[in-house]
Amino acid sequence: MRASTKTLLEARRVGLQLVAVCHNMNCRKSQAVDLDSVISYVGAQHEMLPVLNVRHFSERMVCPHCNHRGMFVWPVVNDDAEPNLEDALFSIKEWEKGGKVTSICETTSFKVAIAAYAAALLENPNKHITLQERARVLRDSKIKEVG
Ligand SMILES: [Zn+2]
Repeated sequence: MRASTKTLLEARRVGLQLVAVCHNMNCRKSQAVDLDSVISYVGAQHEMLPVLNVRHFSERMVCPHCNHRGMFVWPVVNDDAEPNLEDALFSIKEWEKGGKVTSICETTSFKVAIAAYAAALLENPNKHITLQERARVLRDSKIKEVG
């Protein structure tokens, strides 16, 4: 992530996708954040990520699955390669009919991987998308939730 990406306006300008994950440990459902509607509520100069002692929009977000208030928010970065990609454990991939595979996201964080997978599904509900830990498939959009 670029160091200069601090506000919602800047996030939108560089095309960042934010995902929100429910605080509720028994739920942990994730959803893509609609930047435009958040901006219309809190303003474009609002901090993208929570800052100590500053009220953040994610504290007021309500989970659509369990109605719990408060979500974790992460940016999902597609174009900025991280320096330690060699160590990436989790990957989200898009599979096309001809066998072409596109890597959507690679991360060492399972939470980020889950959030990015959910965001990818929301963006492309009809595409075949997998979440893998190296070669092992943990989630597959063509197979109903396994666990
Ligand atoms: Zn929830």
